[in-house]
Amino acid sequence: MRLEAALDLIAEVPDFPEPGVLFRDLSPLFADGAGFAAVTDGLAATLAPEAELVAGVEARGFLLAAAVGYLRGLGVVLVRKPGKLPAVAGRVDYALEYGTASVELPAGVVRAGQRIAVLDDVLATGGTAVAAGKLLEDAGATVTGVSVVLELAALGGRAALGGRSVHALRSV
Ligand code: IMP
Repeated sequence: MRLEAALDLIAEVPDFPEPGVLFRDLSPLFADGAGFAAVTDGLAATLAPEAELVAGVEARGFLLAAAVGYLRGLGVVLVRKPGKLPAVAGRVDYALEYGTASVELPAGVVRAGQRIAVLDDVLATGGTAVAAGKLLEDAGATVTGVSVVLELAALGGRAALGGRSVHALRSV
């Protein structure tokens, strides 16, 4: 399947999770074998050649990181929501529109100096990707770039990520 046709499988759900928000639902894309393969290939092509590990942000980023990691022969780092890990190497708290969120890194996984690509499904305000990058850098890693399936450009994630290399298979 061509990448554009795969990306057309992303559904738009009005008023979720709250009124006025247009949620992009990647479930139909993940459920389509050819579509999932196309976005996996597309994301793999965005990885910097020097990337040694792929970090996926919980939860949909896990699917993408696993598929891309397998394809490229790279290991996967799980950037987790809090309270899931028995031993934590680091934690970064970040602001949401209402309240805060956090991401945690498992202990003993990332070595200083490792070059890591960050993957997620959607880049919106960039808060999650910024936090994931800081988490990895606090552990001594170098972030080679951030790759997502879909960028919601109006929400400013690319600017929030500053000088980082950002790759989106589609930007809307
Ligand atoms: P950000 O932190 O504002 O950039 O939001 C990105 C995070 O929220 C990612 O981990 C996404 O999985 C999730 N997210 C934000 N908006 C959407 C959406 O419309 N569809 C699916 N996930 C979203």
